[in-house]
Amino acid sequence: MVTSIESVGIIGAGQMGNGIAHVCALAGLDVLLHDVNADRIEAGLATINGNMARQVAKGQLGEDERKAGISRIRPAIALEELGRCHLVIEAATENEEVKRRIFQALCPVLSPDTLVGTNTSSISITRLAASTDRPEKFIGIHFMNPVPLMQLVELIRGIATGDATFEAARNLIERLGKTISVSEDFPAFIVNRILLPMINEAIYTLYEGVGSVDAIDTAMRLGANHPMGPLQLADFIGLDTCLSVMQVLHEGLADSKYRPCPLLVKYVEAGWLGRKTKRGFYDYRGEHPVPTR
Ligand code: NAD
Repeated sequence: MVTSIESVGIIGAGQMGNGIAHVCALAGLDVLLHDVNADRIEAGLATINGNMARQVAKGQLGEDERKAGISRIRPAIALEELGRCHLVIEAATENEEVKRRIFQALCPVLSPDTLVGTNTSSISITRLAASTDRPEKFIGIHFMNPVPLMQLVELIRGIATGDATFEAARNLIERLGKTISVSEDFPAFIVNRILLPMINEAIYTLYEGVGSVDAIDTAMRLGANHPMGPLQLADFIGLDTCLSVMQVLHEGLADSKYRPCPLLVKYVEAGWLGRKTKRGFYDYRGEHPVPTR
């Protein structure tokens, strides 16, 4: 049985996967980073390098710590390489089918003791756990974006999650210096159950012409004292992820108040997914972000 997690495999080297790799490596864990191909893994590693270098430049991290941290992260092109990790955290695209297929391919190559976590923003932990061969060793570990900066991690048990799994995950999060909030396994858990309907409402406000992108974000920054406007935040999260979370809320709670805004659907259909594709409610291709409406 795994009592202390010393090695972590991460599936998905996107914004969340590379952030989780970053904080785990700086906490002294061995990290293996996996994605669909070598280019994606390389892109994730390049982001981690850039982010750690920025921390050094700001005096938040010593050069020796950076070097030691980066050397603890290794690319894993084949899923099999993750087999002996104490914990594997899935941080791939927010799509239940994608995640199920990952777990189906992953479980047969894992040591029986390996714990499995998912960073899903909204999907049922119990349902995902049921697609694995180890529901009692499966848990939701929901990091926030950007992982190196955000203090909170939500821990979510599925119906079968064992106490030992929960304690191992809790110890890991504490070792990372983060604060835990425990959520029951309901659609989108706590943070996104509250945050995403607000973002969706901001998009309706734009869709109905109540205000421009700039007016809405300025209103919420200066009128509600939010550090970032809701549309800016949506771009930051990724509009595909925002849409998936709203769909999970809509389907899971069967309440029309969670209906995803058609304008959000349109942006996702256009491939305008926010910062990660350089265009969303703002256009990031120039020197400064420019509102797209
Ligand atoms: P992203 O689009 O930046 O990255 C997803 C990565 O998963 C991509 O690199 C993609 O190539 C990879 N991927 C897709 N299918 C794969 C497969 N079969 N095998 C291996 N890799 C695969 O998305 P993200 O923002 O990093 O989100 C990842 C997860 O984290 C999602 O479940 C999301 O809901 C969750 N999350 C996101 C945020 C956020 O603010 N963006 C916050 C908390 C949690």
